Amino acid sequence: MRYYSTRNKNETLSFAQAALSGLAPDGGLYVPEEIPQYPCMVKSSLGTMDYRDIAFETIKPYMHDEMPDATLHDIVQSAYTFSAPLIGVLDRFALELFHGPTAAFKDFGARFMARTFAWLRRGEDKPLRILVATSGDTGGAVADGFFDVPGISVTVLYPKGRVTPLQERQIAGLGKNISALAVEGSFDDCQKLVKAALADEALKKRMALSSANSINISRLIPQAVYYAAAAGRAFAGRIDPDGEATPRANLKARAPEFASQAPRSGLPITLCVPSGNFGNLTAGLYAMKMGAPIKRFIAATNINKTIPDFLASGEYLARVSQATISNAMDVGSPSNFERMTAHFSWEEMRRIIMGVSVSDNETRQAIVRVHEEVGYFLDPHSAVGWCGVDKLRTENKIGAENAEPVGVLCTAHPAKFSEVVQPLVGPAPVPASLSRAMERAVHSQTIPAEVSAFIEAL
Ligand SMILES: *Cc1c(COP(=O)(O)O)cnc(C)c1O
Repeated sequence: MRYYSTRNKNETLSFAQAALSGLAPDGGLYVPEEIPQYPCMVKSSLGTMDYRDIAFETIKPYMHDEMPDATLHDIVQSAYTFSAPLIGVLDRFALELFHGPTAAFKDFGARFMARTFAWLRRGEDKPLRILVATSGDTGGAVADGFFDVPGISVTVLYPKGRVTPLQERQIAGLGKNISALAVEGSFDDCQKLVKAALADEALKKRMALSSANSINISRLIPQAVYYAAAAGRAFAGRIDPDGEATPRANLKARAPEFASQAPRSGLPITLCVPSGNFGNLTAGLYAMKMGAPIKRFIAATNINKTIPDFLASGEYLARVSQATISNAMDVGSPSNFERMTAHFSWEEMRRIIMGVSVSDNETRQAIVRVHEEVGYFLDPHSAVGWCGVDKLRTENKIGAENAEPVGVLCTAHPAKFSEVVQPLVGPAPVPASLSRAMERAVHSQTIPAEVSAFIEAL
């Protein structure tokens, strides 16, 4: 597979080149020349295959000729020691993407990326420095994925005071090859600093640089896997049993319909994606194009609604991000919009994506309502998705539950955002990985949101 920059279709490069450079020198994002199709055999077995086998089949065509099958096989086996259960909750499905080590979906991309980078860099002696801007969750997932990987160091930039204490410990508590910079500014500022450094020729002469944001294609592709797995299972009429690691364990009172629901087989699912930088949704679009049985998407944002507005009007207006209780989605100028437009026109996007925006108050109400009705804990990001579905259902923009099955991507574990969740519905059970992270001390350096300060820190 060859890749090109969204700003220059004429020059192509390999997966390794696209992955290791992160952002194209012209400021564009790398996209595959074409989106491959699942072979018929794979497509018809998505509902029964093991997660790791789906990962292998999904990722393989994107690395064709570059990574031996045996290596890819080993990477997906060691990266995905957890999976993505699809369970029934009330009138819809929850796709739980928070069973990885940092309790948010970003583990799926980051763990694959770290292993792939380590393999791509085998035999190199110049150390590689990875720059990553985070609104909260990316930093922790990337730090965890790359922790202790020889020959690679990571610098995480996060908006000072805008991440939770737990997120800060996941980012700045590991030490060793992971360093953390607290930037006096917003996530968009952090992202600008990373883009500026990656475009700085003088700096690149001094050190090998790459990025690990969702702008990196090697993080994006593995995220297509859980879409295919979930859509395949829903299509086959199979959902996962009540897993022990999920927050609903330990609950006394459970509504009878909870987790008892089975989807009607043979229907493609509509998936609602709580979105910020739109890497997750873009990966979903890839899965759909590859042939996963997905009917359409709902792009649910908080009040940072650049893309829902674009879908409605056809006009793209980037803005300054506003702080919300779903802070990993506080993005006013989503990077992956460039990727979406590389593959789809506005008209096509409107056919397959419905936009919806949700306020903090509505988000809180959704957390309370779902907990009251069925004892299920939503984190604020997942609650944006949940509420987005409610709003579209009220407006009759999506079909009834037996005609159009809907799944909400639950992007983080509720215990990860206890500052919001606990005052509303009490404490969610805490996974062991999170209690361990809370015990770490924070080591970070504060810098102003200026390129010169950032380069000096590097
Ligand atoms: C990163 C993140 C999002 C947003 O994902 P994008 O790919 O940036 O759209 C949503 N929820 C959580 C919990 C996240 O960490």
